[in-house]
Amino acid sequence: MAFLIVSIFPKLFVIDMFFFIMGKILGVIGGGQLGMMLTEAASNMKSEISNVIVLDPTINCPASKVGAEQIVADFKDASAIKELAEKCDVITYEIESGDSQVLKSLEETCEINPSPETLETIQDKLIQKKFLTKNCIPVAEFREITSREELESKINEFGLPVLLKTRTGAYDGRGNFKISALDQVPEALQVFEGQSLMVEKFVDFKMEVSVIASRSTSGEIRTYPLVENIHKDNILNMTIAPARVNETISKNAEEIAHKTMEVLHGAGVFGIEMFVTINDQILINEIAPRVHNSGHHTLQSSKTSQFEQHLRAILGLELGSTELVHNTIMYNILGPKDFTGIYKPPSIDLENTFLKMYGKMESKPQRKIGHVNLVDKNNLGMENLLERVNILSDSIKIIPA
Ligand code: AMP
Repeated sequence: MAFLIVSIFPKLFVIDMFFFIMGKILGVIGGGQLGMMLTEAASNMKSEISNVIVLDPTINCPASKVGAEQIVADFKDASAIKELAEKCDVITYEIESGDSQVLKSLEETCEINPSPETLETIQDKLIQKKFLTKNCIPVAEFREITSREELESKINEFGLPVLLKTRTGAYDGRGNFKISALDQVPEALQVFEGQSLMVEKFVDFKMEVSVIASRSTSGEIRTYPLVENIHKDNILNMTIAPARVNETISKNAEEIAHKTMEVLHGAGVFGIEMFVTINDQILINEIAPRVHNSGHHTLQSSKTSQFEQHLRAILGLELGSTELVHNTIMYNILGPKDFTGIYKPPSIDLENTFLKMYGKMESKPQRKIGHVNLVDKNNLGMENLLERVNILSDSIKIIPA
């Protein structure tokens, strides 16, 4: 548990606070692969974190398999979240769908980072985009939609195509409907009936990129270099680190990420997804208030992994170096579309190729069950890495056990 000693130096009227942290107990809402990799990072920080407890509805969730204690309950179960807060010194999350109101009510009992207030801003895409716009951070043009007339009028204003989006609870593109013709309006509204909606101008982008950014409770901010994200069926297929863009673009994106962290005030690692438009403009698409799939490459490419960085940030420790030491491609292993069931985990025995399976018992269509980091330790260049990932992706077969 934590001890706080406050010493006041009259000189300069500075209050100097020393936190002697004797193994805090960390609570994580969500015990999937992100919770698992956070637990692994915590196990290398024994003097700062003595124990990890995750809250997850799946018995034997991935985090529990690497040593986390588990409370088996729904992410939004108020009494389970309260139990977690009572047992822990610090709470964080690996999913953004936690109940921010319940978390707010527990802030007196337990430190929660990123703060429930930051979570609340991010959880609703409309509030998130309004917040970014208010702070002069570039995003695609958007409007709230509450009726068919409003949607039609915004389509007239923006021109086609547009994306109709649900404001909350969507992931992997599931809450988006691309409207390319006016006669699709009734169908789009019907698909999302009963949900709060917004519409966005369709961005003509040449690349999707992201910055993994961190801000510690002391206000220190560090960003990892810009990476390039390639999606298939709206799910991240691979991340290329660093992004294949010129220095002006990467600097601009990293500055936007830095500014976002300044205004957000949250503590922890954030995944900031962006578009590079055909005119080389950077627009933020969305922010995840947590460690992010496009940051998995840091496990091998960087001096500090995003998981260690997140823990450092929420504990108020000095942030680690974000330098990209080796060019790396992260390739996601997804469950095949035509198979649900217990599978035989693949094995890979290739130089500078690091397989990470998440310990999920069952494969389900398009479920993320592992990833591979291909690292360019011999400086053979990005083309070589891309060739390696193509060969590897063809050879990984998920088959029934
Ligand atoms: P989202 O769930 O909003 O992050 O969007 C999922 C995917 O939809 C993104 O990775 C983009 O490929 C695409 N997308 C989202 N918003 C837009 C937009 N305004 N214009 C074009 N494509 C978009």
